[in-house]
Amino acid sequence: MPTDESRSPLIVALDYASSAEALALVEQLQPDRCRLKVGKELFCRAGPDFVRQLIQRDFDVFLDLKFHDIPNTVASACRAAAELGVWMVNVHALGGRAMMQAARAALQEYQRPPLLTAVTVLTSHTAESLAELGLVADPEAQVQRLSNLARESGMDGVVCSAREASMLRDSWGTDGVLVTPGIRPANSSVDDQRRVLTPQQAMAAGSDYLVIGRPITNAADPMAALLAINEQLRRL
Ligand code: C5P
Repeated sequence: MPTDESRSPLIVALDYASSAEALALVEQLQPDRCRLKVGKELFCRAGPDFVRQLIQRDFDVFLDLKFHDIPNTVASACRAAAELGVWMVNVHALGGRAMMQAARAALQEYQRPPLLTAVTVLTSHTAESLAELGLVADPEAQVQRLSNLARESGMDGVVCSAREASMLRDSWGTDGVLVTPGIRPANSSVDDQRRVLTPQQAMAAGSDYLVIGRPITNAADPMAALLAINEQLRRL
């Protein structure tokens, strides 16, 4: 796991339908200025070889596949991610304690394992859609419950809305890694995100890493957009 904490806290979401499009952006970025997130679409299209290419270019890669399956299967998937050399991998906390503990145990076999984070409640859920699943606690209580379970099960941290970061920072203390999407620099388009925070607000709320997609990927000059955000954060 190549992890140099002096690197920027920004994680650029490579939400592209092909490796060619993703590489066109990556060629404009520098590994000491950001990390990269590869999600389900790009991974299904471009595969592990593409992830290896990013790592060879010295980027820290967050493999955002949100594993959720029986413990043995998730443990095997985590081993595969570790052997690919990614910097961070994640699972759904809803997979439960045994699944998360199996993921943790599998990664303990490696000298420099990836960070292992858990998704609590998808931000696309509403109280109604959760109730339909039998999850009748209010969404915030559900996030707190799953975050606590993730901590007890040996996760390194959670992926959460920046709006939940300060609440979760209290329970994790300084050790937990909080990864937050839904970030928009002041004056940029919110796109389809509903409740956004600026990079500065998210860091002040206790986030460690900020996932940012379109404000960088859609910018006329992505590297300039990235540098502007890094510059704003340096002034915190
Ligand atoms: O373009 P934008 O900055 O909205 O991209 C945010 C990234 O973070 C996307 O890859 C999206 O799937 C991811 N994400 C999110 N909200 C969550 C979890 C992940 O926006 N709750």
